[in-house]
Amino acid sequence: MMYLIASDFYTYHRPSKCALRVYLRHREITEGPLSPYDEVIRRLGQRHEETHLATFASVVNLRGGTREERMKRTREEVGRGAPVIYQAVLHARTELSGVECDVAGDPDFLINKEGRYVIRDSKVSKRITEKAHPEIFRQLQIYGWLYEKTFGHSPLRLEVHSGPGDLVEIPYDGGITALALLQEILSLKQDRAEPFSPVGWSNCGNCGFHDRCWPIAEKNRDVALVPGVDQGLAIALRQEGITTMDDFVARFDAITLAEYKRPRGGKSVRVGKDAASILQMARALVSGKETIIQPPDVPNHPNYVMFDLEGLPPQLDELEKIYLWGLQIYGERPSSYKAAKAGFGVDGDRQGWETFLAEANAIFEEYGDLPFVHWHIYERTKLEMYIERFGDRDGIAARVHHNLLDLHPRTESSIALPLPSYSLKVIEQYVGFKRTQDEYGGNWAMAKYIEATETEDDELRRKVMDQILLYNQEDLAATWAVFQWLRSKCAA
Ligand code: SF4
Repeated sequence: MMYLIASDFYTYHRPSKCALRVYLRHREITEGPLSPYDEVIRRLGQRHEETHLATFASVVNLRGGTREERMKRTREEVGRGAPVIYQAVLHARTELSGVECDVAGDPDFLINKEGRYVIRDSKVSKRITEKAHPEIFRQLQIYGWLYEKTFGHSPLRLEVHSGPGDLVEIPYDGGITALALLQEILSLKQDRAEPFSPVGWSNCGNCGFHDRCWPIAEKNRDVALVPGVDQGLAIALRQEGITTMDDFVARFDAITLAEYKRPRGGKSVRVGKDAASILQMARALVSGKETIIQPPDVPNHPNYVMFDLEGLPPQLDELEKIYLWGLQIYGERPSSYKAAKAGFGVDGDRQGWETFLAEANAIFEEYGDLPFVHWHIYERTKLEMYIERFGDRDGIAARVHHNLLDLHPRTESSIALPLPSYSLKVIEQYVGFKRTQDEYGGNWAMAKYIEATETEDDELRRKVMDQILLYNQEDLAATWAVFQWLRSKCAA
């Protein structure tokens, strides 16, 4: 008998789709603790659910009982037509791939609407779409199937109460799609050998098994460590027996790799124009030495503004919000650190934007036009988002936008580094930059900011905000360190 639960869909899809995670969790392999960011998301999710619970006048609350008691009470309460059942348990036995399976799920709410039940889950996520959250769709669909198996008729509707408070209907297909995925999950749980899942910098970064999988990949000199070798390419290479970066560089040149086909979006597509750069990255990793691809394109200017934003994604705030606009001038006439902070009140977001515009304007008045140096696309896209949100009456944001200088593509296109990622945090270490805080990072800063938002203790809030400001200031210093290192390569 195999035991399958609706949360298996989360294991499979979150934080990134990975078959190996299902296998490892089923075998109870030790995982790292939840990150502070995940803790915040969990806490906000609980609060969101409790707020929704409080909107119902009459609720049968099954929280706290054993699973067997809750299962029994669920059947009884549906049988007597209870208006709302909170934390029900649904269960059914079925055969999947010839294996007897116990399937269970705990929907947040069963809501009686004129004699039939709506199944509703509360989710803090803002975008409830199949593409963004397939695990939510499968979870609700398996609840629907469990309900149908238990009571002999389908639920009235499947719904998600989303982060912004909308009710989003999830299509019910009789459980076909969810059961097909459960069948896949079952086979992963039954596998004797570990399924192959290529590591990836962003895929594995927030996974609890990172500290297990990453060192193994490094020890094996896994080809998936090469920047540009995506999951599809790593899988295709493995099928041909090419598993290490050493085999990879020995087997391909830029022409043969460009013609090589990898699975992508259900099709088989050529590696194409990325081939030369992927091979350069692979050769740098194999040799342990950086290679100049072309002289970096870094304009000469006496002064530069280092520019870095800290923001909250939409699921952590009603709006996607920048809570800190960090600026500091480096070069011949350096400035002190300038931080435009969003206020904690209702108009805080606009205040943060206007303070930033005032700081940027003061810089232009003193220095004229100068590059605003940042790392990757976040700063550009958020600047555009805020111009759209609050306008740009005096054209200051447009002037900043015109002066943006993104170091990330300049670094990537000019130097092949013996590193598995071109993230700032990786490259700053490579160039010898050292931070003063043990804990840092965008997700760490978000969790800290939520802590600052929620506390009523002014002293604690000040302390937490000081840590975030120091982190942002060190991001600017790190960007400058990488900028100087890159500029030194112009002369090399
Ligand atoms: S660390 Fe990466 S490869 Fe390992 S289980 Fe997590 S996502 Fe999968």
